[in-house]
Amino acid sequence: MTERIPCIREGCTNTILPATAAKTGGYCMPCKQEMEREERRRYIEANRRDVNLYEGLHDPVQILKIMHTPHVRDPLIHYVPYERSQEQVYLSLSAEQQEEMRDYAMELIRTDDIDTGKDILLYLVCYHDISLAAQIPELLEQEIYDPAILHKSASAQVRDLLLQQVHNDDENRNHILMMLAHIGDEVVVEQFRQWKQSPPAWADQLYVRPEQYTFEAGWELTKDGERRELFISPSYSLYKSKDEDGTIAPSSGVPIQMLQTSTGSCPWCGTALTTLVALDVGHPALQNVSWQAEKLQIRTCVNCSCYGVVYMETSSAGEPFWSAHNVMPVGMDDIDSENSLEPAPDAGDSFYISTEPRQAFHGSEWAMEPSLSQIGGHPGWVQDAAYPVCPCCSTTMRAVGQVDWAQIEKYGEGMYYMFLCESCQMTAVTYQ
Ligand SMILES: [Zn+2]
Ligand SMILES: [Zn+2]
Ligand SMILES: [Zn+2]
Repeated sequence: MTERIPCIREGCTNTILPATAAKTGGYCMPCKQEMEREERRRYIEANRRDVNLYEGLHDPVQILKIMHTPHVRDPLIHYVPYERSQEQVYLSLSAEQQEEMRDYAMELIRTDDIDTGKDILLYLVCYHDISLAAQIPELLEQEIYDPAILHKSASAQVRDLLLQQVHNDDENRNHILMMLAHIGDEVVVEQFRQWKQSPPAWADQLYVRPEQYTFEAGWELTKDGERRELFISPSYSLYKSKDEDGTIAPSSGVPIQMLQTSTGSCPWCGTALTTLVALDVGHPALQNVSWQAEKLQIRTCVNCSCYGVVYMETSSAGEPFWSAHNVMPVGMDDIDSENSLEPAPDAGDSFYISTEPRQAFHGSEWAMEPSLSQIGGHPGWVQDAAYPVCPCCSTTMRAVGQVDWAQIEKYGEGMYYMFLCESCQMTAVTYQ
């Protein structure tokens, strides 16, 4: 029997056959492989080069085109990210540059990169509310129905075609109703009103009544058949100042009170209640809100609002208090209080509200990863639109803003949606 010899690598206790040792220079196979991996890693580290695809570029259109082009993956290349986010570059586009991007998107759609083309159009519509009236016929020809918001600027002619098509296109009816809701002009409002009064033959094939599609576009039909907006505008973004440098351009935002722990605690789970946002009623973001207190305070239990609606009423002194109308969600009593969420004491520090308003639909497509937290603007529903109803007066409550938990905690997720009923001075918070 051949005698095995020890691997020569320090600290290794493996033994190998002399034949293996001759091949590996005395190392056992695991050591040999590990050394090779290590060598490869060092080689990559020593030879990896930075590639800056944006070097010398100033035209935001050029920069966005590169951002939308997939890079070749190569371990020897480190792509230097652009100094500004994609969202910021989009926001910097002039009207002319927006059109240039729109044309580029249509070109991509024609050459079969439909997904990238649609993404670009979506950014242009949400961030700039650009009109696609001239492009929509071609989008429909390509059977691009989704996302419905792309079609909000459809011409009267297209609208009329859609009002026809919805009757006989079983396959796309869901999308068409959503598109019509986004178009939402007088003719559409009248049509939804008629459907509400006498449901069309195809209504029972839908999950919800036809007129409920309007919620997805941020409005509802009132009892009198009028259009009522379900979110306040304008929209102001809420953001955290960058920790790295601790500075922020003073012109772009002012500090705002967020996530303050209140002295009251939740009657359901015992956690201290949190004031998600407290904003002076004189702030331009609240110009279309009538609130009797000096501050609009949206308070909730950040745990329990994950399971159901949490309503708060306002005292005569302007303080929010737990509403007697709250109904504990089914299954709440099983919730493990050990897992209760409590924002860190400094979680709300260094939050700013932007000085300039942005487009109402800016934060509405959460999957695009825009800065989502906001006061005002269309909600960025993670699931279907779900506006709570005021428990006092049965009116649909209006969305007043949202807080993206990913911005609050490192591993946080989900969104808190904030609502109000002005006539009852009632607020509500939900979560998706
Ligand atoms: Zn070894
Ligand atoms: Zn609670
Ligand atoms: Zn009410």
